[in-house]
Amino acid sequence: QREYHIVVLGSGGVGKSCLTAQFVQNVWIESYDPTIEDSYRKLMEVDVSTSFVCTARDTLTSVLQQGRQVVLEILDTAGTEQFTAMRELYMKSGQGFLLVFSITSMSSLHELAELRDQIIRIKDDPRVPLVLVGNKSDLEEDRAVSRARAFAVSQGWGSPYYETSARRRANVDEVFKDLCRQIIRR
Ligand code: GDP
Ligand code: MG
Repeated sequence: QREYHIVVLGSGGVGKSCLTAQFVQNVWIESYDPTIEDSYRKLMEVDVSTSFVCTARDTLTSVLQQGRQVVLEILDTAGTEQFTAMRELYMKSGQGFLLVFSITSMSSLHELAELRDQIIRIKDDPRVPLVLVGNKSDLEEDRAVSRARAFAVSQGWGSPYYETSARRRANVDEVFKDLCRQIIRR
């Protein structure tokens, strides 16, 4: 069974712990200790068949069988802002990265650029599997980052963009699934 290491990154307060908990345990907890960094494991079924186009029936069958179970090891980071040896270590071992900001905070989006640069430098790979996540989509009335703005950023990175609500558990599974598919397709 395959095991993939996923790292959840972003400024403090954007909802990394809430997103992780919703994905792993299906629970909404209003507040987490912002200083706690922990990792969680979850079994997931990934359908990789959609990444192929096939014509012959026998090919199709073999492709469909490629839907597979993987184990995700998810690190919910609580990094201080400065670059640390610890951060370098988990960036090295991470295979896929969720870069999370809050749609209510433009600065939380801006801060991701530097994190992405660090990931690419440390992994020495500009095409590292990555998803840009705009969380707190339930707070539409407090939106400070337009969908178009965030989407443009993700396009510039060559990565997909999703808006999630950890509170309402909206689009949570989708971001992890997308990341898994990216890792598998490498
Ligand atoms: P972290 O520092 O990135 O791990 O952020 P947390 O997961 O601890 O969440 C920070 C705060 O944002 C908490 O008060 C959460 O209740 C709140 N929060 C997280 N996700 C959402 C969301 O999707 N919607 C709303 N409205 N609040 C959220
Ligand atoms: Mg946290």
